[in-house]
Amino acid sequence: MGKPTGFKEFTRQVPGDRDPTLRILDWNEFHEHMPVEALQEQGARCMDCGVPFCHTGGIMANMATGCPLNNLIPEWNDLIYQGRWKEAIDRLHKTNNFPEFTGRVCPAPCEGSCVLGISEPAVTIKNIECSIVDKAFENDWVEAPTPGEPTGKCVAVVGSGPAGLAAAAQLNEAGHQVTVYERSDRLGGLLMYGIPNMKLEKWMVERRVNLLRQGGVEFVVNTEIGKDISATELQDKFDAVILCVGATRPRDLPIPGRDLKGIHFAMDFLHANTKSLLDSELADGQYITAKDKNVIVIGGGDTGTDCLGTSLRHGCSSLVNFEIVPHPPESRSEDNPWPQWPKIFRVDYGHAEATAKYGEDPRTFCIETVEFIGDENGHVKALKTTQVDWEQPVEGGPPFSRVPGSEKIYPADLVLLAMGFLGPEATLSDQLGLEVDSRSNFKAEYGEYATNVDGIFACGDCRRGQSLVVWAIAEGREAARECDRYLMGVTQLP
Ligand SMILES: Cc1cc2nc3c(=O)[nH]c(=O)nc-3n(C[C@H](O)[C@H](O)[C@H](O)COP(=O)(O)OP(=O)(O)OC[C@H]3O[C@@H](n4cnc5c(N)ncnc54)[C@H](O)[C@@H]3O)c2cc1C
Ligand code: SF4
Repeated sequence: MGKPTGFKEFTRQVPGDRDPTLRILDWNEFHEHMPVEALQEQGARCMDCGVPFCHTGGIMANMATGCPLNNLIPEWNDLIYQGRWKEAIDRLHKTNNFPEFTGRVCPAPCEGSCVLGISEPAVTIKNIECSIVDKAFENDWVEAPTPGEPTGKCVAVVGSGPAGLAAAAQLNEAGHQVTVYERSDRLGGLLMYGIPNMKLEKWMVERRVNLLRQGGVEFVVNTEIGKDISATELQDKFDAVILCVGATRPRDLPIPGRDLKGIHFAMDFLHANTKSLLDSELADGQYITAKDKNVIVIGGGDTGTDCLGTSLRHGCSSLVNFEIVPHPPESRSEDNPWPQWPKIFRVDYGHAEATAKYGEDPRTFCIETVEFIGDENGHVKALKTTQVDWEQPVEGGPPFSRVPGSEKIYPADLVLLAMGFLGPEATLSDQLGLEVDSRSNFKAEYGEYATNVDGIFACGDCRRGQSLVVWAIAEGREAARECDRYLMGVTQLP
């Protein structure tokens, strides 16, 4: 603990974001960065608590609490306060293969459980993490990983999202020959084709993939396992297989009018946009445009917010976001105490941008869409909605009821469905005879990652259901450890 009185002397400060009215004119990162002295003051606010809840990740009340990667947060807070940035990145890399991703996109459950957060605003852990790794890259301190002593074993990793990349990095370190198969044309999973450029610039994903490639990991793109290569062929060819294929089946809204034109799943919108942006700066027109359209995004969360930010950058005419859940409280409710993840009202970047452009937050809560209304050409032109009341659940039915007389019509020419995901596609589980759990995810115990089929492991969103980048990295690391134990009988991996 560099400065025992730091938490009393300094208040919490995070870097500002770029002006929302200007940043929606481009696709560049929306965050600003802080000067070193200001960051050191923020590091000095860390109290180096006896029990640092921030670095002890777990699940409480069904939500992450503390860092799922068990990042050594108090240690690197102290190191940056002392200006020892090189040691700070070494400590950070011990637990997190990709801090430049989590430092940008993690919702920071660590900050929700920061002990200082009981009485004062929490330490700015996420921003410090991001600054440490950015500084490390600026100073060329991040090098290609050195592969371990060759074991003669080979492992296939299916899917190149954060879980697959983390698993590959760890297995490579253990000396196994690793091949990552990815069905998309670019690597990174949702880091590449889900989370938009303004939140995570894609050259950063490519930079990390290139380091892994230089370190000995082999990558094969445009290859779908289960179609281009059968899953059983992979099973025969490799000593072990780790499935990291994500939760890619979107939840649909099967109500009258669903087959009208102009209604799309969020991922079709976001994936095509980033691909076109990277291929041609949107010149090829190979994306679903929101330009001059009345856009309605159904569903919140990160996916909904990213649809808002992307629609604004296209130049939509109007923008509305429906959430079926009630408006969250402004501060923690009594049944959501520290150190649980604070379930409070948050204004993410897309909400701030929509508010700056249209003068009000785009979100409407407690609203259910009951019908899509079409025009004479079979294109959506409006949505019929009703308010819902969560205080009056329907007996034997949904946990809410519709409010009589609350029907409303909203004009819309583009509707984006961002209502979550229903687990992985069934092709691989069918081909390999994998058991799935009650939510249709690949069944493998947390901490063990072994499926019911010998030598086949599963981790990340395809095992735990749609989740977070930080959990995907954590599971990828741990699955690599269990796979190494399976191959060698013992393991040195953390
Ligand atoms: C739009 C959006 C925004 C998000 N924003 C955030 C955020 O801000 N912060 C956060 O923490 N989390 C966010 N998330 C969640 C986060 O991205 C995921 O939890 C995380 O990426 C899961 O990692 P994964 O490696 O398990 O799977 P994924 O990232 O989904 O990667 C799976 C990969 O497997 C590939 N694949 C699938 N099947 C096959 C096959 N048969 N053969 C070969 N390859 C295959 C896919 O193409 C994909 O590249 C967001 C999710 C979405 C959808
Ligand atoms: S990875 Fe997420 S939870 Fe862990 S220290 Fe970074 S911001 Fe916090």
